[in-house]
This record gives sequence, C-alpha cells and structure tokens, in this order.
Amino acid sequence: MIDRLAIIGVGLIGGSLALALKQAGAVGHVVGCGRNQQSLEKGIELGIIDSYQISVSDAVKAADIVVVAVPLGAMRRVFEQIAGAITDQAVITDVGSAKASVVEVAMECLGDRVGQFVPGHPVAGTEKSGVEAGFASLYQNKRVILTPLDSTDQGAIETIDKMWRQCGASIEYLSVQHHDKVLAATSHLPHMLAYALVNFLSGLNEHDEIFKYASGGFRDFTRIASSDPVMWRDVCISNGDALLALIEQYKNELDQVSAAIQNQDAGRLLELFGNAKSERDSLVGNC
Ligand code: NAP
Repeated sequence: MIDRLAIIGVGLIGGSLALALKQAGAVGHVVGCGRNQQSLEKGIELGIIDSYQISVSDAVKAADIVVVAVPLGAMRRVFEQIAGAITDQAVITDVGSAKASVVEVAMECLGDRVGQFVPGHPVAGTEKSGVEAGFASLYQNKRVILTPLDSTDQGAIETIDKMWRQCGASIEYLSVQHHDKVLAATSHLPHMLAYALVNFLSGLNEHDEIFKYASGGFRDFTRIASSDPVMWRDVCISNGDALLALIEQYKNELDQVSAAIQNQDAGRLLELFGNAKSERDSLVGNC
C-alpha cells in the first residue's frame, strides 16, 4: 500500500497510473501536480487525484512515491524542484519514452539522492493526451521497462516493480542504452513514418480525394499521427541519434521496394511482402 503518491503531470500516462492503483486498492492519497489548475480540478472531479499542488516541491514533500509523467522536455524543470523537497525514504520514478536523457537530468539534479530514482517506461499508451485521456485498464497485460542504474537502491527498484505489477503490468529490465535503441525501432520510428505519411499525402494536389477514399488500412497505419506533437518533438530530440540511424536504414528498405517495382521483379516483391507478413503475424501473436 502506497500511503501518499505524487503524480507530476496528470495526463494519459500519469492519470492512468493513479486510476489503476486506486482501482487495485493500492494507494491511499494521490496528489497531482501540473501547470494548469483547471486540468487538476478536472482530475479531482474524475476521481484520478485526491488533491493537487501547482508547485512541484509542495506536491512531493510528503510523498512515498513520486511519479514524473511530464513530456521529456519538461523533465529538467521538474527534477530540479524535486531534489531539495523529497524525504530520504521517498522513491522517484518517471515514465519517459526515452531513458538516457532523463537519467542524465536525474543525475545532475538529484545528486546523492539519485539512488532513490528508478527510471521507467510503461510500454502502453494511446494517441490521446491530457487529464481526460486516462483510464484504469491502460496497463493491464502491458509491459513496463525499468532501467535502473548500478547505483539505484534495491529497495527502490522493488517498490516501483511492485507498483506497476499492481496495475496489471509485467516488468522487464533493460539497460538505458539498450532501451533507447530498441524503443527507437519499435515505437519512435513508426511514429515518424505515420507523421511523414500524413504530411506527404496532405501536401498532394489530390489530398481531398486521398483522405475521402482512405480505407481501414490507412486509418490503422496513421492512427498514431494523431499523437501529441509536443511529446513526439521531445522524443525526437531526446533519442535523436538512435532514431536518425534507423531512418537511414529504413530509406534503404524503401529503396528495395522501389527497385523491385521498377524491375517488375514479382519474385522479389513476393519475397519482401511474404517475409514481412510472416514476421508481423508472429509478432502480433506475441503482443
Ligand atoms: P499528456 O497526456 O500530455 O500528459 C502530460 C502532463 O504533463 C499534462 O497533463 C500536463 O499537465 C503536464 N505537462 C505538460 N507539459 C508540461 C511542462 N512543460 N511542465 C510541467 N508539466 C507539464 O502526456 P502523456 O502521454 O501522459 O505523456 C507523459 C510522459 O509519458 C511523456 O514523458 C511520454 O514520453 C511518456 N509516455 C507516453 C506514452 C503515450 O503513449 N502517450 C507512452 C509511454 C510513455 P499541465 O498542462 O497541467 O501542466
């Protein structure tokens, strides 16, 4: 049981965590924190949080667990305010989609309290954002990746591991660098492709007709282009090197498709699509 939980950033990810823990009966009091008082009032009305503070230091000062769930670009400002305000026993975690940049900020801001910080990333989400986007079942049967450092306190890791399991998630442990490389491929690159496809098509002369006749496949492929632009701007800036390397490799893959079409190479096209189909079929079965 967590007596007092502070959620900094009561949006899709932070709000869903609060709701899941409340539903599991695993938390006493949830204090929310954000810049926008109206959103925080909404959070109380929706039963996501029990009280709120606009000041990060006020929100975290008596908390047992502090969850930082703001966009990556806002992490530094939040960690700077956490550092001097938490107790020795408090455990801090975050939910950022890239880990190296958050770890760097935490090391700089938390100083000798960095052992109390357990970097994390729930591999769950939707294209919606804000306080009204949260829902209690978001983490059911989903994975949460924790990327503790050598200096991370073992008790802190166990606390955060248990918190996520109480939300129905399973836990995986990766190094910070490995997390950022793998997530660049499985999450960050697909978002870039979806954004680029929608921008490309909307710039064509026939764009009205293209969107009018778009099928379910187009909707499936581009759903994630409705994701929050601020979040994805920050992911690109935080995990730029890994992402750029993959974008270059992906261009080669498209070149292979172009070449096969150009050469009317039916065998090669079947090989490319057959391979992708069997990979995707087995992948989805494992998700
Ligand atoms: P969200 O729904 O937009 O929620 C973020 C919350 O942070 C907002 O409610 C906002 O509240 C607060 N916030 C925004 N900018 C801020 C700033 N500059 N300073 C302080 N607070 C700020 O976003 P989210 O989808 O929950 O994402 C939060 C984090 O989770 C991000 O780090 C993201 O990388 C990570 N994540 C997202 C997903 C996903 O699918 N969306 C999945 C896994 C991890 P106020 O407006 O009241 O300040």
